[in-house]
Amino acid sequence: MDKCHSVLEGQLSDNPPILGIDDAAILYKHADLNDLMFVALNRRRSQVPGNEVTYLVDRNINYTNVCTINCQFCSFYRPPGHQESYTQSVEQISHRIDELETLGGSRILMQGGVNPELSLDWYVDLLVELQLRHPSIALDCFSPIEIEGIAEVCGKTTFEVLRILSEAGLHGLPGGGAEILVDDIRFAVSPKKGSSDNWLKVMEEAQTHNLTTSATNVFGLGESISQRIEHMSRVRELQERSLNNGLSGFTSFVSWPVMLENNSLGNGNAGRNKIELGTGAVEYLRHVSISRIFFHNIDHIQASWPTMGMDIAQIALLAGADDAGSTMMEENVVSSSGSTKTDATELELQRMIISAGFVPVKRDSEYNKLDACLQLGDKLGSITSRTQ
Ligand code: SF4
Repeated sequence: MDKCHSVLEGQLSDNPPILGIDDAAILYKHADLNDLMFVALNRRRSQVPGNEVTYLVDRNINYTNVCTINCQFCSFYRPPGHQESYTQSVEQISHRIDELETLGGSRILMQGGVNPELSLDWYVDLLVELQLRHPSIALDCFSPIEIEGIAEVCGKTTFEVLRILSEAGLHGLPGGGAEILVDDIRFAVSPKKGSSDNWLKVMEEAQTHNLTTSATNVFGLGESISQRIEHMSRVRELQERSLNNGLSGFTSFVSWPVMLENNSLGNGNAGRNKIELGTGAVEYLRHVSISRIFFHNIDHIQASWPTMGMDIAQIALLAGADDAGSTMMEENVVSSSGSTKTDATELELQRMIISAGFVPVKRDSEYNKLDACLQLGDKLGSITSRTQ
């Protein structure tokens, strides 16, 4: 298709134009996948120079599964009072961090449900205690909908809640719960979740408090290609505003397809045709490629091995992703809905990166490279170059 070729050629030029919404949709729908990946990899090499792919040694902790939001794609949550509901104690969470520290980890990603039984003080005490016991671990915790839930319980604004949590030791607000920032689709699958505007507002507030943030995207919820681009566009607009205001903005963009096991969305009980839901490997690679080309203002694009598997994540590194995600150690949210692999060793991530032809480099939550692993990456990289 001529239009595809001319847009792709423009994106390959020395000063590529910012990819417009309409052109992004055209490329997503019609461009040859090989051409798309070629342009995305080229863009990755100019945006993140070098042959390194980063990864993070961290641990996911799901501190509570109590939630009142009832997203149709979620098999993880339990309503308040349910016999399988749980909330972990400080001791249980701290013990998990002890295990992470023995593996040389540098952050936890701690998220749960919207639990109306937990007060703001509970969260503050938890963060203060964890920071005291684990001063070298970055506490990247909660998502915008959890912040909205805490604000509702304590009667403060989300801005104020974030300020208080930040002072208590919160390091970052991960981008969970963005799913798709198009309200028609968002409310169809999560009628009780905050709007797209709310998610963006809380993220902007978090950035104002200097919290480290990332942007996420769950797709395959029945949305159109144009709506996927609309999601990216809303993230890109906020990034532009944040950077213009002197904030650090999102570190990265992380996307994955919805999982459809054990939930009402996948079971067809949510009134949606299952054939329209989810995505395959080719569509995932198109999504990664487009996101790399689209986000001129977000440097890091992550490959998702927990949902796509190591092999497809490896190919995503050739579609513009420059980060292999993290070890996670445990995962209970996506895995409840069908993902089979929920943890990876550091060695597995290194091997995956090396066999794709890149050099693995361990990073921290803010994408700073960690020296000890740079040496390891260099050593392994020389193995890679010998095999190329
Ligand atoms: S995805 Fe999050 S907000 Fe939605 S039901 Fe599950 S735990 Fe609750």
